[in-house]
Amino acid sequence: MANENKLQNIIGHCKEYGFVFQSSEIYDGLSAVYDYGQLGTELKRNIREYWWRSMTQMHENIVGIDAAIFMHPTVWKASGHVDNFSDPMIDNKDSQKRYRVDHLIEGFAETLDKEKGEVLLQQMDLLLAENNFDGLKQLIEDKKIACAISGTCNWTDVRQFNLMFSTEIGSVAEEANVIYLRPETAQGIFVNFLNVQKSGRMKIPFGIAQTGKAFRNEIVARGFIFRMREFEQMEMQFFVQPGKQKEWYEYWKETRMKWHLSLGISPDKYRFHDHAKLAHYADAACDIEYDFPMGFKEVEGIHSRTDFDLKQHQQYSGKKLTYFDTDINQHYVPYVVETSIGLDRAVMMILSEAYEEEDLSTPEKPDSRSILHFPPMLAPIKLAVFPLTKKDGLPEIARDLIDQCKPYFKCFYEEKDAIGKRYRRQDAIGTPFCITIDHQTKEDQTVTIRHRDSMQQERIALSVVKDLILEKIKMF
Ligand code: ATP
Repeated sequence: MANENKLQNIIGHCKEYGFVFQSSEIYDGLSAVYDYGQLGTELKRNIREYWWRSMTQMHENIVGIDAAIFMHPTVWKASGHVDNFSDPMIDNKDSQKRYRVDHLIEGFAETLDKEKGEVLLQQMDLLLAENNFDGLKQLIEDKKIACAISGTCNWTDVRQFNLMFSTEIGSVAEEANVIYLRPETAQGIFVNFLNVQKSGRMKIPFGIAQTGKAFRNEIVARGFIFRMREFEQMEMQFFVQPGKQKEWYEYWKETRMKWHLSLGISPDKYRFHDHAKLAHYADAACDIEYDFPMGFKEVEGIHSRTDFDLKQHQQYSGKKLTYFDTDINQHYVPYVVETSIGLDRAVMMILSEAYEEEDLSTPEKPDSRSILHFPPMLAPIKLAVFPLTKKDGLPEIARDLIDQCKPYFKCFYEEKDAIGKRYRRQDAIGTPFCITIDHQTKEDQTVTIRHRDSMQQERIALSVVKDLILEKIKMF
């Protein structure tokens, strides 16, 4: 399946089965904002839960918090976001369309042959690293890069555009104060560093994890839920002794890659991308890239953030943010290694990996099925239970089984249509196991279990169903 088609098919499938909808669709939608439907919400919750438990439950020295989205405005001054969280943008004067300069040049580079494209990208990287905006504009003009809408090269100067959304807090106009919607969850962790360290009697090295919404006024928002204006992050800041950051950076690179591979995704679908241009706060940084339908793109960032953030908050707040290390009898501001993954990008990764249009044709009959090969622990619905017919006491047995299982995992009951059709509907939403109750069940207390990926069916005792599914869906 061509990749462009694959993305479009995934988007269509997500809408048809209730995974993801365009926000405010009945009003023609809001660009780069999406709502999760009934199944997408379950999938997202399961991915979040797997990340959360991997971080907090499986690491004795990592605890989780839930900081507010609104924070004191000075937080964003201290973090550098007010001054630095911006992308160089350029507007086409004829179409009024605004572009991120790197995206505009990258798009053009893709149309060139490989070697020429690479030279152009190198030139661009150099100019971006120097913040040379005149040079970037010159490059765009020299290469005659045109706007996709107007087709002209009539460009404004390159300008910085801050990505933070702002609003006002306070009920009376005079009291109003500009406040930002957080563009990352990390700062909520930094400002609570001492609260958590002291109240939890945490000893360095230790980590603080958090999941939650973040907001960025992305100019070029495309790629479905890959780049959104409102999205969710899962971040963990790991506080270490100064000088030990390099080894912890390597540790977290390896540990996070293992997490990705534990999703059953093949290693050749991932690669590390080391940052050549480091952010102002970092002494090492890389992305974990996944091979999305639109190519290899960042799904997670791992950053060695030095003591930049804590030192900045110390300076702007006037409050000491040091730690006394009894192992070495020293006070210091800890260094931080961060892992930061976008939950929505993880959802998109899992969907891209799972989605298949499987050809089941035989020489006699064309046939196909849409299927989502989710790892069982992430599937929105774990078990579907079907009575073969609506009578003879079969629905009652099916309902009994669901009553037994539903405290432990999400089940689905259906009695309409032929069994084959019911199986196909569950394949399309990624349910890994279906149980059919038939007349034999009444005689010998056995049922048919049908496996999604192999479509294999086998006869098992009704009494073992719950424990069997529990075993298959366990996270660790
Ligand atoms: P990009 O280069 O794609 O804009 P970034 O390097 O700015 O991403 P970070 O600031 O490192 O991203 O944020 C950490 C993670 O948050 C990213 O790896 C990504 O998974 C997620 N993320 C960032 N921006 C968005 C967005 N607009 N929509 C969805 N997820 C996002």
